[in-house]
Amino acid sequence: MLLPDCHSGEWYLIITCENCDTKQPLFHDLSRGRARIRHSYEHCCENCQHNALYDSDNIERYQHPMFMTMAS
Ligand SMILES: [Zn+2]
Repeated sequence: MLLPDCHSGEWYLIITCENCDTKQPLFHDLSRGRARIRHSYEHCCENCQHNALYDSDNIERYQHPMFMTMAS
């Protein structure tokens, strides 16, 4: 899954691929930004297939922007 596929207004824990610099969500953060990151996570980049281990220093919180939808 890539960032454009995220749901509006929802929180995610994201990493930036150390090989191609593509930001990608690791998890849907159901705590809405309050959970502590305690683990390292292995992630395979969907863009370049680079596999790496990301720890809490490399994981960011991200809230996907809200988009206004036209009522019809
Ligand atoms: Zn990559």
